[in-house]
Amino acid sequence: MNTATPRIRFFNTLTHRKETFIPIEEGKVGMYTCGPTVYDYAHIGNFRAFLFEDLLKRWLEYRAFKVTHVMNLTDVDDKTIRGSQTQHVPLDQYTEHYANAFFADIMALNIKLADHYPRATCHIPEMVTVGKKLIQNGYAYKSQDGSIYYAIGKFSSYGKLSHIKVAKLQAGARVKTDEYTKEDAQDFALWKAWTPEDGDVFWETELGKGRPGWHIECSAMSMRYLGETFDIHCGGIDNMFPHHENEIAQSEGATGKKFVNYWLHNEHLLVEGRKMAKKFGNFYTLRDLLGKGYDPIIIRYLLLSTHYRSQFNFTFEALDAAAAAVNRLRNFVRRLQDAQGEGSGGKVADLLQEVQLDFGGAMDDDLNVSVALGALFDFVREVNALLDAGAVSRSEADSVDALMKRFDSVLGVVGEVTQQDTLSKKAEELIEKREEARKAKDWVAADALRVRLNEMGVVVEDTAQGVRWRLVKKA
Ligand SMILES: [Zn+2]
Repeated sequence: MNTATPRIRFFNTLTHRKETFIPIEEGKVGMYTCGPTVYDYAHIGNFRAFLFEDLLKRWLEYRAFKVTHVMNLTDVDDKTIRGSQTQHVPLDQYTEHYANAFFADIMALNIKLADHYPRATCHIPEMVTVGKKLIQNGYAYKSQDGSIYYAIGKFSSYGKLSHIKVAKLQAGARVKTDEYTKEDAQDFALWKAWTPEDGDVFWETELGKGRPGWHIECSAMSMRYLGETFDIHCGGIDNMFPHHENEIAQSEGATGKKFVNYWLHNEHLLVEGRKMAKKFGNFYTLRDLLGKGYDPIIIRYLLLSTHYRSQFNFTFEALDAAAAAVNRLRNFVRRLQDAQGEGSGGKVADLLQEVQLDFGGAMDDDLNVSVALGALFDFVREVNALLDAGAVSRSEADSVDALMKRFDSVLGVVGEVTQQDTLSKKAEELIEKREEARKAKDWVAADALRVRLNEMGVVVEDTAQGVRWRLVKKA
């Protein structure tokens, strides 16, 4: 259907500008996304990143790329070890619980599964290989306590991703914790020598007795599954420094080749106008929201609907608006099923062509989803007007339906829409009674039934084709 060659453009953090996406191998994309540290339930800020990555992958697939997606699970680091010790359970048992919870959450959000979910504890040999190469190449050294550190002063382009200048490095200054700020830019630990606090968590390797640092796992596992140079690496902006900066230093220091061609970072999520934090009472896991009765698909839509490089303010009001938007799409698809009009005289065909160009053009432009959704809702409004006028033929409705399915392969929010499966028997009875009351022109009874239906979350609309209903979520 599309004759123009798609030109997808991404904002590349590495070069700080939008670039046309050219994959290493034509038609294929290797994509690595930093996964969860399985020490707790993931929060909605984490899911904003995972949903942005899902949208990116689905868009590349819409444009006919074959995507190989790898997401790691961090199942050994400072936090997982501390957590397992607090709960007095073995590390693997502790992390398995949160890994299972993570998979349940991403399935609820209709996030497509990656091709590989490598776990850090299953790839120690690969990390040791990278560590050894870095020592050989002069980028890493063993400290007195037996830990192996990366000497960032030796990697001349250190800071090229996060665009920081490492001005005055104190010789020998080191940081052993996995997470730190730009102010602490120092030599970081690739391999942490065992200490009594690590308990029974250690590996005996050529790098000594100990465990890997956090950063080396992503270097080792991404290259293991995607090769030494691959197309796209994503993550939240908070992982750009030090994590991604260190990944580049490690991988390029070990191989001498460019690590990743395109780096894409999503911005922060705010909740009710401020940074999400337990102390502010605005910290939510997905489970917290599902426990309040929210539909995970509505949460998906909301977190997707703002451009990934804009800060996003999550509010409960916005969640209600998202529910209305998804309902509009579902109702539209439902209406198409009844279309039996004369035909629009080419109007539907024109609208189909227009919306594909507009939606596609916006998404190709660094995943500008808000503009793409604007085009989609304009299209829905215009086809709805033709449906109101009884002008949409069966075959036109089928074409519209097919395109809606194709868009939904990207958005993942409409799903299968049928008339029956979502309305309760009680609601059906009330709708019938209301129809009878209307026929009898008993407007008082009809209105009372409408109120009862509204209380059940069912909104009825009287149209030329008869009564329509839609479900709305109660806050
Ligand atoms: Zn990572």
